[in-house]
Amino acid sequence: MKKMRIAAGLIFAGAVSLCASGLAWSQTPAAKSAAAPQAAPAPAPAPAATAAKPTCANPNALGIARVVEIDTTGGPGFGFEHFKQLDFLRDHEVVLTFDDGPWLLNTPSVLKTLADECTTGIFFPIGKHATYYPEILKEVLAAGHTVGSHTWSHATLTNKKLTEDQRKEEIEKGFSAVKWALGGVSPAPFFRFPALQHPPEMVTYLGTRNIAMFSCDLDSFDFKARNAQQVIDVTMKKLDKLGKGIILMHDFHKHTAEALPELMHRLKAGGYKVVKMIPKAPVQTLPQYDDEVLKDAKLPTVSSRPVSSVVQTISE
Ligand SMILES: [Zn+2]
Repeated sequence: MKKMRIAAGLIFAGAVSLCASGLAWSQTPAAKSAAAPQAAPAPAPAPAATAAKPTCANPNALGIARVVEIDTTGGPGFGFEHFKQLDFLRDHEVVLTFDDGPWLLNTPSVLKTLADECTTGIFFPIGKHATYYPEILKEVLAAGHTVGSHTWSHATLTNKKLTEDQRKEEIEKGFSAVKWALGGVSPAPFFRFPALQHPPEMVTYLGTRNIAMFSCDLDSFDFKARNAQQVIDVTMKKLDKLGKGIILMHDFHKHTAEALPELMHRLKAGGYKVVKMIPKAPVQTLPQYDDEVLKDAKLPTVSSRPVSSVVQTISE
């Protein structure tokens, strides 16, 4: 656990180093020229672009073979189980995706495995879970993974009892909750429908919101697995048949977290390569739903008076 945190921290430090030095560049000259206009030393050169890429300590790591940027304008759909237009993966390329987190123990375990393998995935957190464990979701982002959304409460959006407004709320509040949990950082406009149930009017709606939809090419069925071995066996069997694909897993589930180290080894041994998917631009959440999440997340007010003003020893 501790080791994982350190690893994630290192990766984070590497990833933000360019941004941080960019800030220094823009702020330093003005301050310095005011203090010592003649003698100000030339600012240090910006680090090379490669400095942002963290080094991988594991020579046998699965790694990241390719990074693709997704223009989500109009709401493209990915995953051949439902969307057959965008066949962008090459032979033996995979995209790792993890649903239903963040969750205690299992999500940190998945993060550790991905860090050990210097590889990455897309996380589709449930909004409510994000509000329970914002610190874990922040670790997901800090480790360099892509974070999307998977509704507010994991409602099946084809449920006829839901009104259109309620369906939209599930989608929008999910994104707003993830943004809140990430400390105001907007997630990727990447969305996965619960249970892969795609009501046509919500598919159209996501298109108007420029949010990409993710089905999958192969479902690990990890939520049905009796043990970790079953997760590995089902996934590898399907993958070897298809030869590539977006893999659906759940960082929420214990068996998935347990299976992941061996599954990563099997992917590597099978010649599979991980593709990282990032958005061209973050999602634009709607203020109305950001406010709703804030209202929900508001904790009861606890007095902040110092202990000495609350507790007085009156006899010993
Ligand atoms: Zn789910």
